[in-house]
Amino acid sequence: GASGPEIPTANVRVVCRIRPMNEREKKAGATPAATASTERKEVAVVRILAGGTRQVRSTFHFDDVLTSFSSQEDVFRATLQPLVGQVLAGYETTAFAYGQTGTGKTYTMEGQLDSAEGRGLVPRTAAAVLEALATSEFTDSSVTVSYLEIYNEELSDLLAPTDRHQKLDLKDIGGGRGVCCQGLSEVPVHSMDDILEVVRRAQEKRRVAETRVNARSSRSHSIFTMKVRCQRAVAGGELENQGKLHLVDLAGSECAKKGGLIYPEDVSASARLLAGQEEERERRSINQSLLTLGRVITALREVRKGLKGGCNEEAEECRLRGNELLNKGDFADAVAEYDKGLVALLSAKGEQDDGGAA
Ligand code: ADP
Ligand code: MG
Repeated sequence: GASGPEIPTANVRVVCRIRPMNEREKKAGATPAATASTERKEVAVVRILAGGTRQVRSTFHFDDVLTSFSSQEDVFRATLQPLVGQVLAGYETTAFAYGQTGTGKTYTMEGQLDSAEGRGLVPRTAAAVLEALATSEFTDSSVTVSYLEIYNEELSDLLAPTDRHQKLDLKDIGGGRGVCCQGLSEVPVHSMDDILEVVRRAQEKRRVAETRVNARSSRSHSIFTMKVRCQRAVAGGELENQGKLHLVDLAGSECAKKGGLIYPEDVSASARLLAGQEEERERRSINQSLLTLGRVITALREVRKGLKGGCNEEAEECRLRGNELLNKGDFADAVAEYDKGLVALLSAKGEQDDGGAA
């Protein structure tokens, strides 16, 4: 909804997956740092004390929780499967894999291509889209995919036909329809084999790039985009839908907090972040886009929390302007608006706190 104070939570879902311990961790006799309850959709961060007592340090709630026993198919069912129909209905949807390096983001998104069970969300979702399009409901359809990498705020094409590492530019396509990445390859796919071939090509490009820059893949984002066009017969003609799906394997979350930079956990941390922004910008090691994503999410959450706990007009205006800009694809200005709203909320909150103290 464009107006009204509450951001519909159903539009954003957060699912947590815990990966199994690896051989090295098992050999070292490590104990799990977190335990999950799928029933309560809860993850407890635990510490095992001497003598084996389990101490819960904090508990987090999610829209869904997947344990170390969850299969790739379980993950697909809990996340993207319900969205396939929406993409065919012409909606745009995005899934991010977020977490520290080594927590299983790439395994979750791409997985092991050689076995049907090992395949991750990219091949599974793409296959589900193709399968859904094959039904007689559609009179015509086409699917193209692109694979973009963002490293050091530079864009490159993981499906480029040549070996040259050509940098791409973002361009506003005008009319409030957002931005496009100029020159990005769009490859038509018709079958599971086509999809696997595309993912393997992207993996190979990343592997070559990795040998040039150590740990490049944990500092870069890769964005798999699927454009789906489908037509169906309706009374009096044809109806065409164009949907889009973005599957994003983000840089390791540790890249957003290099050099002691806090990933905003609470209001006061957000305030420190805003205050120290100029200084932080100087630090070359920070992954700007990951930091920005974090700021957008924090701003959305804080603004929403603030609105729940007593409306602040200025913050509400910022939020609405931010939403408008975001809808237009004007990402940077939207973030600036949310930040302004955040500052308005924080100063109002500060006054409230002072009042309480007095
Ligand atoms: P990230 O992309 O977050 O840095 P990876 O996806 O590369 O992490 O995972 C790190 C290692 O753990 C890989 O060897 C991967 O195969 C393995 N792994 C991650 N998640 C799982 C899982 N759910 N089941 C089995 N192995 C996993
Ligand atoms: Mg990875």
